[in-house]
Parts: sequence; structure tokens; C-alpha cells
Amino acid sequence: MALVTYVNGTFVQKDEAKISVYDHGYLYGDGIFEGIRVYGGRVFRLEQHLDRLYESARYLMLDIPLARDELRAAILETVRRSGLRDAYIRPVISRGVGDLGLDPRKCKTPTVVIIVDTIQLYPKDAYERGLRMITATTRKIRPDALSPQAKSLNYLSNIMARMEANQAGVDEAVMLNSEGYVCECSADNLFLVRESEVWTPPPYVGILKGITRGAVIELARELGVLLMERVFTLHDIYTADECFLTGTGAEVGPVVEVDGRKIAEGRPGAITLRLIAAFRDLVRREGTPVYTEEVVERRA
Ligand code: PMP
Repeated sequence: MALVTYVNGTFVQKDEAKISVYDHGYLYGDGIFEGIRVYGGRVFRLEQHLDRLYESARYLMLDIPLARDELRAAILETVRRSGLRDAYIRPVISRGVGDLGLDPRKCKTPTVVIIVDTIQLYPKDAYERGLRMITATTRKIRPDALSPQAKSLNYLSNIMARMEANQAGVDEAVMLNSEGYVCECSADNLFLVRESEVWTPPPYVGILKGITRGAVIELARELGVLLMERVFTLHDIYTADECFLTGTGAEVGPVVEVDGRKIAEGRPGAITLRLIAAFRDLVRREGTPVYTEEVVERRA
């Protein structure tokens, strides 16, 4: 096992993976990224992650120097070289090396990095006892300033929110938009359950359209749970029956306390637990095989 990184076409060990300090990804956060999981040797929803990456690139007018097939192949090869069966993949495409001004025209070639590592955002027992959150005073960046649907390298407002959570000694922070409506957490989407209905904010309030969020919406519908995308406020969270968050890193995590108020009994709720189980089952069932023996096995 080795933690392998792809940097502009070459595969190197973690400690040797380096980029220039003149890279505008480093100087200005000018770039995009994805976070993707591998479960049991299969990449979960790789095509959706590629769709979102190329969409983010179009938004930023960033030309990814690899065709989609080439990038997919590079991602799979980086995982293969790591030998990992359960892993986290972080493709990062930045504007590339330029001068000290921010003009992207000075950056001739975007830098392509693919990191393969492992990830455990919260300790295992957090999924049984539930997560605690506060509401951040830092608001989401307005969609007319920077699209929250683009997964750009500008995460400072999310980091500010995460620091607020750290200071409060809790696990995550809820972020509101400039009008005070609930958006999402610092790196996860948010759901609540009220009277057996599951609610999650619609993309237009200013959230990242999470791929885990999409999977959970599908699973809820398959389980016959009524799910709606709707705008809501902190009042709806404080008085909800259940609350949970979703993200590639966090997966599906129950939330049991928000701003010092216990959500219902302060324990992970029944619908949340069903969705966690359904999600764990789903990630084992589907995905793009990384290793050849599984490709052969699947074709047979
Ligand atoms: N919102 C934000 C701000 C995020 O950074 C993430 C993590 N990528 C998510 C939501 C969850 O998205 P996904 O399920 O695609 O990981």
C-alpha cells in the first residue's frame, strides 16, 4: 500500500507530490476539486463526480487539459497504484503556473493533481451517538458572488464556519444564506425529518448539489419515504423530529443537537438510521470497478 498522487501525468509518492508556489491554485484559490470515495474496490458515482468537475470547470472557464476518458483513466490508475480498496480520491485542477498578478491568461496550462488517500471525518461512535452542531455566524457566499454549485478551491467561508464549530466544541456548523434560510453545513448537505417527511434545501438557496445528497434522495424515494426539497429556517431544525447530514467524506451522519437544543430525544432517529443502512448497502452494490479482476467478473 502506498499513498500515490498523480501530478501532471506522473505518479509519485505522497511526500514527492509538489506544485509551484506560482500556481494560481495556491496564490488565489483559482481552481476546482472533487472528493470521491472508493468502497470495496469500486468508485462510487464516478460519472457524477466527473460531470460536476467538468461543470465547475466550465463555470470558471478553466480548460481541463485531459479529455473525460483520459481523466477517468488517470483517476482509476492512481487508485490502482495505491492498492487501496477503500479510499478517498481528491482530483484538483488549478489554473496552473502564472505570474504574481491574478490574470488567468498568464497561466498557460492547468495543473492536474489526483490524490489517493484514506479518510475518516468523524470517529465511528459519532454515527451511533450522533453529531452536534452550531449555526455559524459566517453566511454562505451569495450565488451572485460565486456559485456555490461550483466546487472551487475557495473554501474560506466554509473554513470560517468550521472554526466556529471548533470553538464551540461541536462537530459541524450549519450555514445560512444571506436571507437567513438554511443552506448546508461547512462540507455537507443537510436534511431534517418532520412528521415522517424528509426535507432538504433546494440548490437555488445556495448549496453544493451533493452527490451523497442525490443518492439519499433516491434511497428515500425507494424506501417510500416522502422527500421534498424546500426552503426552511432554523425554527424547522430546532423543532424537527430528526436531522442528518450527507457528504462524500461524512457519508450519512445523524445530527442530535443544534445550537444547544436537542433534536427530539437527542438520539439518531428511525428514518435517519434506515437511510444510513440503505446508503451503506448501496455503496457496496454499485460503483466503477478499479481492479481488473472485478472488471472481468462483472462482464462474466
Ligand atoms: N456541501 C459542501 C459545501 C461540500 O463541500 C460538500 C462536500 N463535497 C458537500 C456539500 C457534499 O457533497 P458530496 O455529497 O458530493 O460530497
